Amino acid sequence: RLILGIESSCDETGVGIVRLGPDGALELLADEVASSVEEHARFGGVVPEVASRAHLEAMTPTMRRAVERAGVALSDVHAIAVTAGPGLAGALLVGVSAAKAYAAALDKPLYGVNHLAGHVAADTLEHGPLPERCVALLVSGGHSQLLLVEGGLAGRITEIGSTVDDAAGEAYDKVARLLDLPYPGGPPIDRLAKQGDGCAIAFPRGLTGPRDAKYDFSFSGLKTSVARWVERCERAGEEVPLADVAASFQEAVADVLTAKAVRACRDLGVGTMVISGGVAANSRLSGLAAERCAEAGVELRVPRPRLCTDNGAMIAALGAHLVAAGAKPSPLDLSTTPGLPVGTVQLR
Ligand code: ATP
Ligand code: MG
Ligand code: FE
Repeated sequence: RLILGIESSCDETGVGIVRLGPDGALELLADEVASSVEEHARFGGVVPEVASRAHLEAMTPTMRRAVERAGVALSDVHAIAVTAGPGLAGALLVGVSAAKAYAAALDKPLYGVNHLAGHVAADTLEHGPLPERCVALLVSGGHSQLLLVEGGLAGRITEIGSTVDDAAGEAYDKVARLLDLPYPGGPPIDRLAKQGDGCAIAFPRGLTGPRDAKYDFSFSGLKTSVARWVERCERAGEEVPLADVAASFQEAVADVLTAKAVRACRDLGVGTMVISGGVAANSRLSGLAAERCAEAGVELRVPRPRLCTDNGAMIAALGAHLVAAGAKPSPLDLSTTPGLPVGTVQLR
């Protein structure tokens, strides 16, 4: 059975096609993404109106490319999955409207799904179905959460921790701005950090005191601390050691995220950790997670970078898990939910 996935929650228009085998195995047939990121770069963040308009322009061509790449006919599609939230209201609306139109025209069932659960589902395209229980560290541009996933992606997702201020990706984007690096900030900081020393500057690790919430994160103090450091250099007329600042910032983020995620696995007796979302593409985060998971005897799963950032294939994958589990489709008058909580995997 072929499952089509449509993603438009932020600045990527994505269409993915996945084949769901009789044994529940997924085969990725197409993963086409059109991004408006360059149009937002000069604003240093996503401009909602610009994103919506770009989705409108990109949706049909991206759909066409995906169908062509997969070498299938639209009429052979078994079901259509679409991101219903969370995300930008106007951006979501473009994808959901397109999905409804395709579902109605082709007379196929529609599944309105959760973007964040989709990020976790991306990993199943690479590493197969999830075990009965796993901890997922979801780190993206708008979210940073620790999740307990039980019974697979069509099962139950419980948030056990989250950021109390900025998301990890947001911190990357803000720090990149402080260092005069381009938007989005994750990739350039990641590259620069490789030439620096992560131990050069002891930036603060938020919420790691004995009385702090065990699984929550905070990145705004870290960002302020980087800003103070850069200011101090400038006041003293010293050159900012960009690579060391990038590496030390990156170390602080990776340290806290991996320490808390491994702790959650230990406390909950879970043997598998999935890291997903755009920041999962970070080389130090996956490197440090690999070390710490090995020490703790936890299996680590991180999808390849292309599947970490927004795409339609992850939405198709999540739709496939729902279909495989026999979930009922969403109604055709499904609405978008910009603030959809992560525990609601499907809108009904
Ligand atoms: P959300 O999923 O929360 O709605 P989003 O969809 O905008 O937000 P993603 O596309 O999943 O977020 O991720 C984008 C974020 O990932 C950006 O903040 C970007 O800086 C960050 N990012 C991408 N690559 C890297 C990297 N190599 N290292 C660190 N961060 C990265
Ligand atoms: Mg994006
Ligand atoms: Fe995302």
